This record gives sequence, structure tokens and C-alpha cells, in this order.
Amino acid sequence: MTNDTAYAGRGDFGLHSRTRVTAALVFETAWRIGSGREGETMSDLGVVRDPGGQPVLPGSSLKGRLRSTCEALAYALDLDACMLDREASGVDCVSDVGYYRNVREDYRKASQQGLESRLQWIDDHTCDVCKLFGSPVQAGRLRVSDGTLREWAAVVQVRDGVVIDRDSHTAVDGLKYDYEVVPPSSRFDLHIDLENADDQNLALLGAALFEWHAGSSIGGFTSRGLGRFHLKDIELSRVDLSDPTQRVRFLTATCADQRLVNLGDWESYFAKRIEQQVALAAGAEED
Ligand SMILES: [Zn+2]
Repeated sequence: MTNDTAYAGRGDFGLHSRTRVTAALVFETAWRIGSGREGETMSDLGVVRDPGGQPVLPGSSLKGRLRSTCEALAYALDLDACMLDREASGVDCVSDVGYYRNVREDYRKASQQGLESRLQWIDDHTCDVCKLFGSPVQAGRLRVSDGTLREWAAVVQVRDGVVIDRDSHTAVDGLKYDYEVVPPSSRFDLHIDLENADDQNLALLGAALFEWHAGSSIGGFTSRGLGRFHLKDIELSRVDLSDPTQRVRFLTATCADQRLVNLGDWESYFAKRIEQQVALAAGAEED
């Protein structure tokens, strides 16, 4: 058993370890995260902006996209992903509303037997993706910051769209709308925090980071080529509070950067976790 697993925090809600990934997210194309209302340019579909007019890359959007990336990759790591839909995935997980309703009484009984039994129950009834991102009965281990804007074209563009008929997949005559996009080459800094991560959590997050580093997409109209991005300048740091030296450093550091220990090469760190997980899965298949 590795430290990651030993200090995963079963039976204890306290902080045992924190792993932080910092990165720059660079958009290769124009992108839009919709505000759900008219844009300031009077276009039909605005983008989210801060009070100063600058585009916003919300942590909730990043987390949602990271979740769907992990869902898509879970199978390759032999991990479960409920997709929040038991019918579709065939995976039992408390995040499926219908499934949770059926087992709620069972959960209540387990909870009455104490914390250990409650956490074991949650562990047994939560898919591997929801262990990372959270479920109705447990907060997730992963947090994603909002993007901090570092570079952008300082202007929002407006593009024309046509309304497509759902059945015929053809344009409906005369029905046009326009929508805002943020031009290409905008760049944000972001960080991802993972608390009390075990090796499976790290393998899953690592696989998602490799994909985002190679290139992915986020936001609206990605099927029209919007929202292509990649990560760069990824850095990895961690504090393990079972180590007294690290614990003292964490508790006494006056600046955020000094609280965690830089782990160096993120690729080899995560590749090792991914290899372990794949080897574990291959071993299980042979049994
Ligand atoms: Zn789930």
C-alpha cells in the first residue's frame, strides 16, 4: 500500500494530502461560454464577462469539462463511470437519482452504525468518477479554480448563425441569429486541487491532463470548431501531512507557493500512476 492510499482519509474527514496542478490554458480557436442572455454587443447569445468586460472562464465550466473527459477515459483505466445515468452506463452509483432513491434506506442504516460504516457504504456505492468529483452524499476531492485571464484580443467578436431544423438538418429560411465569441489566442492560468487523493484518483486526473495537454475543447458550439484549447506549463506540487517536515512547512509557510513541495516532472509522475492502474486492471482480468 502506498502513502497515497494509506492516507486517503477513510474514517477521517481531515486533510491528509493536497495535490495541486497549475497550468496555462491556451485557446487555439475562438471560444464561447454562454452567459444565457443577450450579449453586450446586442447579439442574441452573449459570452460570460466580468464587470470590466473581460471574458470569464468559470471554474464550474472547467470542472464540468474535466468530469466529461474523465468519464470518457475511465473505461481505458478499467474504472467505473456512472455518467449520472444508471440506465445508460449500467454502473450503480448514488449520483443516479433513481438508484439513490432505492438504496437510501440502506444508506441510512449504514450511517447509523457509525462513520466508518458510512464511509465504507459510500465507497461501495460511488463510481470512480464521482469519487473524484463528488456525489449527493459526499463532497468531491477535486476543486478547479476560475481561469485568471493573462492574454486576450481585448475585443469580443460577433458571428452569424442560422437556425437548423432538427429533423431535416437543414437551415430554416429567414431564421438567423448571431452569437458572441472570444477571438483565438486568449490565455488563462488555472489550478486544480485534489485532496486526500488515492492512486486511482491520480491515474484518472493524470490521464485527463495528458488529454488536455494534447488538446481538447470547451464551451459552446464545439461542433463548429469553437473552443479548441490545450494546456501548457503544467506544474505539479503536493503536501503529504504524514511527513512531519512537510507538515510544519505547510502550517508555517507565509506564501501559498511555499506550502506545497514541487514534484518536478508531471508527465512521469502521472504516467507512473496510469501504468500502475493499467497493470492492476490487466492482472485482475487474468485472475
Ligand atoms: Zn457516479
